[in-house]
Amino acid sequence: DAKRSGRGVARLFDESMDEGVRVRRRIETGLSQAIARDELALVYQPIVAHGAFEVVGFEALLRWNTREYGPISPATFIPIAEESNLIHELGDWVLAQSLDVLKSWPGQYVSVNFSPRQFRRHNFVGYIMERCQRAEVEPQRLQIEITETAIFDDADRAAETLYRLRQMGFRIALDDFGTGYSSLYNIRKFALDALKIDRSFIDGMSREKESAAIVRSIVHLAQSLNLTVIAEGVETAAQVDLLRVAGASHLQGYHFAKPLAEPLARDMAHARFLEVEPATGTLG
Ligand code: C2E
Ligand code: MG
Ligand code: MG
Ligand code: MG
Repeated sequence: DAKRSGRGVARLFDESMDEGVRVRRRIETGLSQAIARDELALVYQPIVAHGAFEVVGFEALLRWNTREYGPISPATFIPIAEESNLIHELGDWVLAQSLDVLKSWPGQYVSVNFSPRQFRRHNFVGYIMERCQRAEVEPQRLQIEITETAIFDDADRAAETLYRLRQMGFRIALDDFGTGYSSLYNIRKFALDALKIDRSFIDGMSREKESAAIVRSIVHLAQSLNLTVIAEGVETAAQVDLLRVAGASHLQGYHFAKPLAEPLARDMAHARFLEVEPATGTLG
């Protein structure tokens, strides 16, 4: 995946010499045509509850397969879209598709990423509500993923927006938690449902005592704030064990499934429980 997306970027650079600016302009131009050219797709990665590995939701992740350069990673094109109004057009497409796919799943939620600029748009609450009503989707089935950057620049306004969304029944998750400057102390005033612990901590857990300790303290404090914890980037059975001991209630990562095309995600949604390798049993 990363390698394939890397190739598109490498070719862009090859052809367009040393200028990052040229590359960026090509990406912008390409993105502005991506919807019309049918180059976008969503893939869905299951989020499972620890224990029986019940599939409770799916994170929607955007893919862009360009005609000229092949696949380009969202880590490359989302920041460029975010610097222009293109993010609104792309985000609107992502939301519409995500709400639509819910109709074929029995009860799971879809977790959609919103960039800071989307979150700060005028009347974000009204926008989300209108889209859900139009799609006839109950708020409980949409989880809104935002990052710390989205809420800290204008904390009072963000707190108000989150409060209203949560009152209406939408789920709110703070993505990539631990990588920004927020602490559990200053997130307490935001109406959240879940913290997604960034993959870098999960990755370090089996190697460094410090990462494992950080994960345990995030889980502990999240519990005291009544927040669900979703561990991102779970790749091994050993991490599953460590996360059980740490008390993380939800898991997401390649150990369970890579992001899946819609028909596969639908099958998994209907199966409801994942069959995964048994835990190693070496930990309490
Ligand atoms: P994110 O929201 O933190 O999404 C998780 C990323 O981790 C995804 O990368 C996912 O494919 C990857 N991942 C999941 N499990 C594992 C694992 O076990 N190991 C490893 N190594 N990686 C794992 P992806 O799909 O490349 O997306 C990258 C970022 O792009 C996302 O990070 C999100 O910030 C952004 N993004 C993706 N789709 C959208 C979208 O529709 N809208 C917005 N605004 N941003 C998006
Ligand atoms: Mg996310
Ligand atoms: Mg994340
Ligand atoms: Mg991330």
